[in-house]
Amino acid sequence: MTFGFDVVVVGGGHAGAEAAAAAARCSARTLLLTHRLDTLGEMSCNPAIGGVGKGHLVREVDALDGIMARAADAAGIHFKVLNRSKGPAVRGPRAQADRRLYREAVRGLLQATPHLSIREATVEGLERGRDGGIDAVLTADGARISCGAVVVTAGTFLRGEIHLGPERHPAGRHGDPASVGLALSLAGLGLPVRRLKTGTPPRLDGRTIDWAAVEAQPGDDPAEPLSWLTDRITTPQLSCGITATTPRTHAIIRANLDRAPIHSGQIQGPGPRYCPSIEDKVVRFAERQRHQIFLEPEGLDDPTVYPNGISTSLPRDVQDAVIASIPGLEHARILRHGYAIEYDHLDPRALRASLEVRDVPRLFLAGQVNGTTGYEEAAAQGLLAGVNAAHRASGSTEPRLLLRTQAYAGVLVDDLTTQGVSEPYRMLTARAEHRLRLRADNAHLRLTDIGIAWGCVGQERAARHGAFAGAVATALARARAEVATPAALAAAGLPINQDGIPRSLLEIIALPAAATPALETAFPWLRDLPPGVRAQLEAEALYAPYLSRQASEFAALEREERLPIPDQIDFAAIAGLSTEMRQRLEAARPATLGSAGRVPGVTPAALVALAGHLRRAG
Ligand code: FAD
Repeated sequence: MTFGFDVVVVGGGHAGAEAAAAAARCSARTLLLTHRLDTLGEMSCNPAIGGVGKGHLVREVDALDGIMARAADAAGIHFKVLNRSKGPAVRGPRAQADRRLYREAVRGLLQATPHLSIREATVEGLERGRDGGIDAVLTADGARISCGAVVVTAGTFLRGEIHLGPERHPAGRHGDPASVGLALSLAGLGLPVRRLKTGTPPRLDGRTIDWAAVEAQPGDDPAEPLSWLTDRITTPQLSCGITATTPRTHAIIRANLDRAPIHSGQIQGPGPRYCPSIEDKVVRFAERQRHQIFLEPEGLDDPTVYPNGISTSLPRDVQDAVIASIPGLEHARILRHGYAIEYDHLDPRALRASLEVRDVPRLFLAGQVNGTTGYEEAAAQGLLAGVNAAHRASGSTEPRLLLRTQAYAGVLVDDLTTQGVSEPYRMLTARAEHRLRLRADNAHLRLTDIGIAWGCVGQERAARHGAFAGAVATALARARAEVATPAALAAAGLPINQDGIPRSLLEIIALPAAATPALETAFPWLRDLPPGVRAQLEAEALYAPYLSRQASEFAALEREERLPIPDQIDFAAIAGLSTEMRQRLEAARPATLGSAGRVPGVTPAALVALAGHLRRAG
């Protein structure tokens, strides 16, 4: 059998779902191939979307009309904005989802996407054309599917191997087969393959937890949706619980470290530094007496509870003893033991910033296969790969990129493709040097126009965005233009420093004294602003002093950052570049001057030489 599509996406996890939906929104005839339709959108580990840094990515995916935030809103049973007491730049919206409802929401959104077909199949190989690029995918049931571009999003499945104490067996995740044929096919293309590891905690029967003995953690009321298109959360909300490990827990773990695969040498691949296993935490933070555990229900009709914070691959009997040593869990029944998984990933420095493999035209990689960890990191890459694959399949070679100054997704891709990874990469706000600008609350204002230009934003969002962005721009212009003296403000009941200096409303809003009723007496039009527009005004006011100071710096940076490096550039022909610098740049092949600056080992002097060459050539 042979049939053809513009784009074929391999894998129906978080990267694959976004890649397929994005390519189809760009009008590419798209086929999503995945092992099992009933695991489309499966959350392999914790049942939550978002959080600090990750919530920014979810909002950015949403701003580009991706599906993750809408699915989480449809399935969310506990919403919380993390860091609410801190500034808007580091707040992290998060939703815990009912696993089944989340899968159903993802599947429903994909099935409703025009130009997208979905088939259950195992991809065993990739077929190269005469130019070395990918022309077709080959499935285990003997089909050859020709295509204009392929996006591989195989997650933890590539030669995956599960470890549980001394037990080990090949698997992609619990209950799923490993992908061996596809892994061999990718390695056969000459791609640099490495091993990484991640892990998951045991699952508990919530009916056997002593909830009275643990601290209750209700969600926010009202719940703040993740998607800008969701007006209100209608799913029933549940409370979580908080407990902690004890000195006894730590003693049990220490006594059994020689049976832990990550300490016995059974597992070689490095694991996620920011999501360590409980055995790792006990060793690395030996002085700590307790580690917090969040008890997260996995669904409305499902008694399973996910104990967030104790991922482990210790043997089953040790896991039983560990759980019994934790307050509230003394009699908790383990439904499934925790495990670790080791898997292949590809060194993302082999990719262009469009996520296309540099030496294999029309092959794109996204998600955990690129060395990241997390649903949100996967979704953001999937969306960008899907957009680029769709344009590539239509014959365009111009990459669709986000810069570090524009988006966390830009930071993610730039970090991966220029620095590579030495452990599973997770997004953190600290990675984004422009984080005051790149807030979760303004993702749609930053990115939706870009998405419209790329062709991946649907009509409903484009129309709502246009109206909202217009209202924010008008309100901001008015707040900058309206000026009041301290005397006039004092007369309206606003006790502001009587220094005689007139201030714009934007400056006044940022002052601690700007108590709402008095502010609205002085500027009555504020009362009529929709809450979303008002929130933007307040966030902009808060950061305006910092941002205006940085504005010219940003402008210069962005000009430099954007300076493109032509694909066919001959680094050897650039005067002033040492052999080492030439080799480093040749290996990394950065797309812009900004990316060149982040290639490890590239010196400022080399950048000056490169910038001079690019300016002269441009
Ligand atoms: P996945 O969600 O893994 O999806 C891959 C998809 O590809 C699946 O649908 C699979 O069926 C399909 N597929 C694979 N090969 C083929 C093939 N040959 N043919 C057809 N279909 C194929 N993240 C965290 O942030 N924190 C954690 O603590 C954490 N712990 C984890 C623990 C475990 C045990 C596992 C398995 C994952 C964990 N993760 C964790 C990672 C998280 O699940 C992933 O980051 C995320 O799911 C990656 O999304 P993805 O789309 O790249 O891959």
